[in-house]
Formats: sequence, structure tokens, C-alpha cells
Amino acid sequence: MQPFTGSFTQQEALDDTVIAAAAEILRSGRLHRYNTAAGELSKASELEQAYALYQGARYCLACASGGYAMAIALRAAGLAQGESVLTNAFTLAPVPGAIASAGGKPVLVEITEELVIDLDDLERKARATGARFLLLSNMRGHLADMDRLADLVRHYEMILIEDCAHTMGAAWNGRKSGNFGLAGCFSTQTYKHLNSGEGGLLTSDDPDFMARAILLSGSYMLYERHGAAPSPEIFERVRLETPNMSGRMDNLRAAILLPQLERLESSIARWNERYRAVEDGLSAVGGLVLPRRPEAERYVGSSIQFRLPGLSRSRSEAFVAACRALGVELKWFGAPDPVAFTSTHHSWKYVDPQLLPETDHVLSTLFDMRLPLTFSVDDCRHIAAIIAHCARDAASSTPEVAAAPRSVLAGE
Ligand SMILES: *Cc1c(COP(=O)(O)O)cnc(C)c1O
Repeated sequence: MQPFTGSFTQQEALDDTVIAAAAEILRSGRLHRYNTAAGELSKASELEQAYALYQGARYCLACASGGYAMAIALRAAGLAQGESVLTNAFTLAPVPGAIASAGGKPVLVEITEELVIDLDDLERKARATGARFLLLSNMRGHLADMDRLADLVRHYEMILIEDCAHTMGAAWNGRKSGNFGLAGCFSTQTYKHLNSGEGGLLTSDDPDFMARAILLSGSYMLYERHGAAPSPEIFERVRLETPNMSGRMDNLRAAILLPQLERLESSIARWNERYRAVEDGLSAVGGLVLPRRPEAERYVGSSIQFRLPGLSRSRSEAFVAACRALGVELKWFGAPDPVAFTSTHHSWKYVDPQLLPETDHVLSTLFDMRLPLTFSVDDCRHIAAIIAHCARDAASSTPEVAAAPRSVLAGE
């Protein structure tokens, strides 16, 4: 088997239109979003208008990161100190982190084998806790049955905030991810669907909520200069009682996002072509389970997940090592310690420990891989062939004597 030599963390270079947009801002010297010449609309405001239009939302706030967008969304929605926030247990660390930073208490909800929030467990926990907030993380781009979820949110009178870090551009039955509740939170960090290094976007149709979010983001008293904001009288009611928690986006980052946003739809088509190439290459591997993608879901295949439910922990580790030896970097959610971006609820020690047997069961056999657009479709076929080869090997190999040290911990 020929090893793969591409990099799983190398995103596409930013092209000349992006470089020209950055150069223009640098030449102007006006990097702060409120530093505008007479009659000039800042790049941050332009981005807010363009993203609101793309998203189909009335309002948009550009801010410092996706995690920051979630934290101020919770505050702007009225989260009280110590209040419970329901959230799915399979997500990335900035999600429980945002709840903690807003003073909330994460209540973790199970996930299903399709990697989405378990709506039965959500209902149980909504009833048991009476929680007012659901911070739904559309982790790795998988959408739950959003019609049923929206019904539950309505029935239990919850406030829904969506983490769309992996679903920018995705939709359920034609409705964009991020438009199902009070607010959508997006990230423009390098590994997401738009790349400004760091950055976040918050969208909503609710004027009072958005006025508070804009004030929280550190608008000083310059909120009238925002690109997609409610009218000034809405701010009058809250302008003096809302703290400034500086987390603005600057014009340089906004400038480099604008041309990328124009190409987002074509990037999505390219991601999905790559996703399907890997999916095709893995679909016939015995014992390997790919998530089903529902008809109603329009996904963005910027990463792919699969499970190998038949593998023990030690074999899973050997499988990851075999793939790595052939140049394929997989993340495994069954590892007992967090590795880089990959962690589980067991390592969020600031959160009350919670029993999540379903989630643990799914995560212990779950593998995950990014699909950067620097990979060609042929690269994706090659990667799939390597994974298929190693998965067959792992399933058929005789029990290893030299099990990895972790298996001791796992109680196998
Ligand atoms: C990246 C990410 C975020 C937050 O993004 P940052 O911009 O890095 O704060 C939130 N949720 C998920 C699932 C993510 O992967």
C-alpha cells in the first residue's frame, strides 16, 4: 500500500483577491472596526451585511471567535449565573467552555449512533431539569431531525442557540442550520468553512437579543455603525445596563472573509465531492459503519466520521497507528486522554461528572478525519483505500500480545 503524503492540517492558500483585500486595509491603517473615514462602511459591517444575507437572518454580529459568539449569545439571551444549559455530550471543548464562561452549568445530553443529539434523552432532561437553554452543537456537521427538535424546543419553551461551527452552509429541509432557534453561532477559525485565523459570526432575527449581543461584544456607543443591526431605539433600552465584554472582529479579518464568503457555495460542492469519494471507498468495508445522511439534510463534508464497533480498544489504537504509518491521520474519540482538538466529556473536569453510557459507547468506536480542500478527489480515494486496508487488517489480525498500555486503564 502506497503511503499518503498530504497534510491533514493544511488548508488552501488564500488567493490574490484575498491578499489584495488585506493589502487595501493595511494600506488604509484603519483596522479597528469603528475607525472609518467619513461615509465609509467598515469591512466588519460589510461582512455582517453579506453574512446576514447569505444566512437569511435579519441581524449579524462579527466577533472574535465561535466560542465567544456562543458565550455572548447565552448572556444576551438572559442566562443567569449557575443556570443549567442543555448541550449534546459529543462536541468540542469550546462548547462547554462557552457555557462555563457565561456562568452556566452544562447538562450533557446523550448522542445517537448517527452522532446527533438523542432527542429522547433531550426530552427526558428538559423535563427533569426544567432547563431554559439548549446550546445545540451540530458537531462534525451532523444534523438531528430538526423538525422534531424544534417541536421539543417549542413544547418545553426552551431557548435554542445553535453551534454551527461545522454546519455553516448546511440545511435541514431547505432551512439553513442556525435559523432554527434564537441564534446561530459560526466560527471562521482556520479549520472551519471560512478562514480568518480566528473569528466568529452570530446571527439572529431577534432585535432585543441582537442589541444586547452587540453591546456585549464591545461596541462602545458606536452600535449605529453596525452593518446588520437593529435600529438605534432598540439599543436605548439596554445601552447603559449591558457590560462591554470586548470581543470585536477587526477590519482585516472581515476583509479577508468577504471574498471567501462569495466562494463558499463552490467550496461546499468541492468538500462534498471529497466526502463522497471517501464514503464510496469505505462503504463496502465489513464492520465499518458510516453515519447515514438523511434525505432532509444538506451537509458540508469538511470532515468524515465512521465507526468500527467490533474493535477493542487495543485494536482501535493499533488501527490508528497503522493508518498513521501510511500517512492517514485519524482522530479516535475512544482515547482516555484528550489529544489536541479531540476530547470527550471525561476530560472536562470543570463540568459536573455525568453518566452518558450511550455517548461513551458511540465515542469508544468513533474515528474522525478532516478533509481539507488541499486534497484532490484522487487523494481522497487513496486515503479511503488505506483506511479500508487497515480496517480489514485490524478486524482479522490475531490478538496482539503487546497491547498498548492504555488497554490496562480501559478495563478490558
Ligand atoms: C471550532 C468549534 C467551535 C468554536 O470555534 P472557535 O472559533 O475556535 O472558538 C465551536 N464548536 C465546535 C464544534 C467547533 O469545532
